[in-house]
Amino acid sequence: MILVFATANQNKAKEIQSLIPDSIEILSLNDINCQEEIPETQTTIEGNAYQKAYYVFEKYHKNCFADDTGLEIESLDWEPGVLSARYAGESKDANENMDKVLSEMSGLKNRNARFKTVISLIIDGMEIQFEGIVNGQILTEKKGSQGFGYDPIFLPDGFNISFAEMGLSEKNKISHRALAVNKLVEYLNTLA
Ligand code: IMP
Repeated sequence: MILVFATANQNKAKEIQSLIPDSIEILSLNDINCQEEIPETQTTIEGNAYQKAYYVFEKYHKNCFADDTGLEIESLDWEPGVLSARYAGESKDANENMDKVLSEMSGLKNRNARFKTVISLIIDGMEIQFEGIVNGQILTEKKGSQGFGYDPIFLPDGFNISFAEMGLSEKNKISHRALAVNKLVEYLNTLA
């Protein structure tokens, strides 16, 4: 079976290929000559993941999966959520996004938050979703310099260091993305 991973990042596609049986061949968007930007105009993380996967299925007639991730903060009505990448503006600047979260949360006691990744898999027009969630707390200041996005302000439950203070391999063992990918891989293994 051929499965497109709706990502322009060849490394992400290679990483997944190494986790699943060779009978399923993973192609990236480059591999199918999809150079255009795929619309992400939905109001939920689930909706955006589906929109990206369905775009490829419909236009390129290939089975496909896509992922979408957001940081959800309870005391901000679960924002930034689907707006995570551009919370502070179109420049998608991670520091500005974190500064906006810290300022919106200034003085707030409830700092509960979660990272959520949703993977939408479309095979022969039928969709299945896989979800990975990591619960944690928003710190009052940035800590650590590894990782990306909101990692410096996120303290995962059960740890006393932020995502940005963890090595990549440690974060990859427990991250929202890893949890969702593991569920996808488990499912794909049943198809092989
Ligand atoms: P995407 O759906 O993977 O592109 O993620 C959307 C946005 O969520 C990114 O631009 C980041 O701001 C944020 N994000 C996603 N995954 C992570 C993570 O593992 N750590 C920190 N921020 C993340």
